Amino acid sequence: MIPLFRSAVAADAADRVRAVLDSGYLGQGPRVAEFEAALAQRLGTDRLATVNSATSGLHLALHLLAGPPGPATVGGEVLTTPLTFPATNWPILALGLRPRWVDVDPATLNIDLTDLAAKITARTRAIMVVHWGGYPVDLDRLREVVDEAGRRTGHRPPVIEDCAHAWGSSLRGRPVGDHGNTAVFSFQAIKHLTTGDGGLVVLPDDVLCRRARRLRWLGLDRDSDESFRSSQDVTEWGYKFHLNDIAAAIGLANLDTVDARVDRHRANAAWYADQLRGVAGLDLLERRPDRRSAEWIFTVKVDDRRGFIRRLAEAGIAASPVQRRNDLHSCVHEFRTDLPGLDAVADRMVAIPVGWWVDDDDRSRITEVIRAGW
Ligand SMILES: *Cc1c(COP(=O)(O)O)cnc(C)c1O
Repeated sequence: MIPLFRSAVAADAADRVRAVLDSGYLGQGPRVAEFEAALAQRLGTDRLATVNSATSGLHLALHLLAGPPGPATVGGEVLTTPLTFPATNWPILALGLRPRWVDVDPATLNIDLTDLAAKITARTRAIMVVHWGGYPVDLDRLREVVDEAGRRTGHRPPVIEDCAHAWGSSLRGRPVGDHGNTAVFSFQAIKHLTTGDGGLVVLPDDVLCRRARRLRWLGLDRDSDESFRSSQDVTEWGYKFHLNDIAAAIGLANLDTVDARVDRHRANAAWYADQLRGVAGLDLLERRPDRRSAEWIFTVKVDDRRGFIRRLAEAGIAASPVQRRNDLHSCVHEFRTDLPGLDAVADRMVAIPVGWWVDDDDRSRITEVIRAGW
């Protein structure tokens, strides 16, 4: 079976991990510092904090920008997309905030910015967006929408970008994660850049960055020297969300090889966009020339999705909707609302293998099977 996902681990990761295991220091130490320095170089900002998952990173970001949980968060809303992994949305519940679902643009599967604009009110504490499959939300247009709402309500809500799919994506030449918002990347096992499990929070200013670095470790300032560390007062409590040196060693190895893998995802996606154009019962997602997707997954919209998935499975090819709309889970029943854009795509969307493990023969076979019909 050609799989939808595989973990990518560079050849020298095992040696690097062994060196950590032999060092007698497994916690957040020199390898995390080295990984963060490499990430800072890569992303062009040192306002960042690694964490033990993107879920933790999203929780931390929301805590920094809309929390902490308590009287101030009661009744507060977070505008968010229902089309994502639940990791985007359950931190909203954990902080005692209310998710308010924003519709999805059927052309991109990203948040619908027109519906978003209509739903921003004085109760809006934050806005969460996801770059589906790595295809960037129009962050320039989003900034205008939020600025406008800020003038109207007297309060400009902060934006958190869930960049879990978007390592290597860019919009109008600028990398995703560098648009003045708080951005959270995932280094989970099947993401473009993996540390086994891990994540990264990129902060828009130094004050938030210092807070993030303290609150990821119970509110203690780990960047300070040892003698201060053991005697310091915690002024603001935090979480145990930091990354460790074992994970950072894997990340350092994979950072050297991630670009080539993302390029292969992109080449495969370009092949599909060309070969699947005009196939009856199948629609491609929007791909505009002003943005580059990291093409972490390749989603198409099909008629008779069950038949499509069955036909591909018979041919040894995995296909799946990947994510289930979050708004229909029973734990968020009270927040249900009409979402016609999402209704139009929720039963049609399906992802086909696009990753670095899909070679030229595989992708030719995949397009042949699809073009033959289901
Ligand atoms: C994978 C993923 C996450 C969670 O990442 P973890 O690092 O596993 O916590 C969050 N959001 C989206 C959209 C994801 O795909």
